[in-house]
Amino acid sequence: MRRVVIVGAGISGLALAFHLKQRVPHLDLTLLESDSRPGGKIWTERENGFLVEYGPNGFLETKTATKDLAHDLGLSSELISASEASRQNRYLFLNERLHRLPNGPIGLLLSRCLSWRGKWGIIRELIRPGRPPQHDESVAEFFRRRFGSEVADTLGDALVTGIHGGDPEKLSLASAFPRAAEMEAQHGSVIRGFLRSAAERRRQARASGREPARAGRLWSFRHGLRQLIDALAERLTGALICGVRVTGVRRGRVGWIVQGEGQESWSADVVVLGCPADEAASMIADVDPELAEHLAGIAYNRIAVVAMGFPQSEVPRPRPGFGYIAPQRTRRDVLGIQWCSSIYPGRAPEKFVLWRALCGGWNRPDVVDWDDDRLLQAVREEIRIGMHVHSPPVFHRIIRWRRAIPQYHVGHRERLARISQRVAQLPGLYLTGNAYRGVALNDCTEQANLLAARIENDFLTSPTSPSPRKESP
Ligand SMILES: Cc1cc2nc3c(=O)[nH]c(=O)nc-3n(C[C@H](O)[C@H](O)[C@H](O)COP(=O)(O)OP(=O)(O)OC[C@H]3O[C@@H](n4cnc5c(N)ncnc54)[C@H](O)[C@@H]3O)c2cc1C
Repeated sequence: MRRVVIVGAGISGLALAFHLKQRVPHLDLTLLESDSRPGGKIWTERENGFLVEYGPNGFLETKTATKDLAHDLGLSSELISASEASRQNRYLFLNERLHRLPNGPIGLLLSRCLSWRGKWGIIRELIRPGRPPQHDESVAEFFRRRFGSEVADTLGDALVTGIHGGDPEKLSLASAFPRAAEMEAQHGSVIRGFLRSAAERRRQARASGREPARAGRLWSFRHGLRQLIDALAERLTGALICGVRVTGVRRGRVGWIVQGEGQESWSADVVVLGCPADEAASMIADVDPELAEHLAGIAYNRIAVVAMGFPQSEVPRPRPGFGYIAPQRTRRDVLGIQWCSSIYPGRAPEKFVLWRALCGGWNRPDVVDWDDDRLLQAVREEIRIGMHVHSPPVFHRIIRWRRAIPQYHVGHRERLARISQRVAQLPGLYLTGNAYRGVALNDCTEQANLLAARIENDFLTSPTSPSPRKESP
């Protein structure tokens, strides 16, 4: 029987293990996780009556992979969607004031977020010929080229801050926002492309009698994202081993040997590294130093999450909505505040609200190193200015992610191509996780599903003849 070892039980490793088990039920599979709990960045706790997410807050309706996974796990009835108010009401924090972000291009033309010059940039985008450059363009370059510098500095920056916590001058458009690049290439205008694809989605939904997917709608589970992790872990009982830090991977007489921190090691026909790219780099350094170098070059930002509960009575201007973003270029101490109990009602006890601040990101990594008191004071000061809340929270928790979100910098595609070339020379070795082809939960679950099919095809259908055919990491 073929043996598979997966390193890292974040959502990528767990989903991959689950899909492999579904495809090959009697597979000899081991999933090794260094932490004492599975889930990686997904971490939900119930504390003092507050249901707190310390990592992702949900997944968008843009792809079906996570919802399909929930369905396969029997969790469909546990899915909850974010409130309509949180889809409609998102804010920007600019010049020490909150500005409501309009929904759609018409709303932008009527809003106060942009000057007339900025609004003209939006109109001009519709008629400006789409000529994507040959080089890997940064997100900032793209926004300036299509919409002008004001839109790049406000909306482009806010988009990057909200999703990647990154620097728009450094992030690659094609890797970080592939849909925007596709829309320009296919429709000549990004706005026209998104409007047409939304119309097409509505048309298809009408034709099949379904409710159309709503761009920007967030989903989670009644008891938080941890429910997904717990369900996966339960299905993987016997295969999942927590508290094992893998230190290296080397070739065995046949297949691979996975070395744990102690004396323990595991032999395998197939090894999948589902841990962060720099960890994978150090595991593989002796086998292929060049591959390790490419992997180690994928940068990560750092983020601190500060969750806080306040009595409703202390919030003088409550706004039902998602929360707000302070674009990175403003270099504020807080990247954004999410109004968690407005996004998912019921996450705070009655007469209380639950918020969380995200701090740090690519341009303010220093903030993540501040001690708890200083960090909390900084967040409270930002909340005083933005939300007019003066009192201390009745509850707070701080979590620091030192390798929070991988940054797909300009050159990421070429790096992936080089990684793929090297990995193709190592039959039985695969990479998965958010470092490569998308940082959202949906990307991780989608990639896990695709990889399970590929591994089955490459290695698990025939008991004797492993095929080294592998095109991407
Ligand atoms: C603050 C924050 C907010 C986010 N918000 C959202 C959101 O709202 N929506 C969304 O879609 N995405 C969001 N994301 C992104 C999303 O959470 C991640 O991309 C996703 O969870 C990554 O999953 P993963 O399995 O690829 O990696 P990870 O979750 O990082 O899992 C990797 C696992 O490998 C383990 N590991 C590492 N080294 C070793 C070793 N040597 N041996 C064994 N195991 C090892 C780690 O302990 C970890 O469990 C957010 C991320 C952060 C940090």
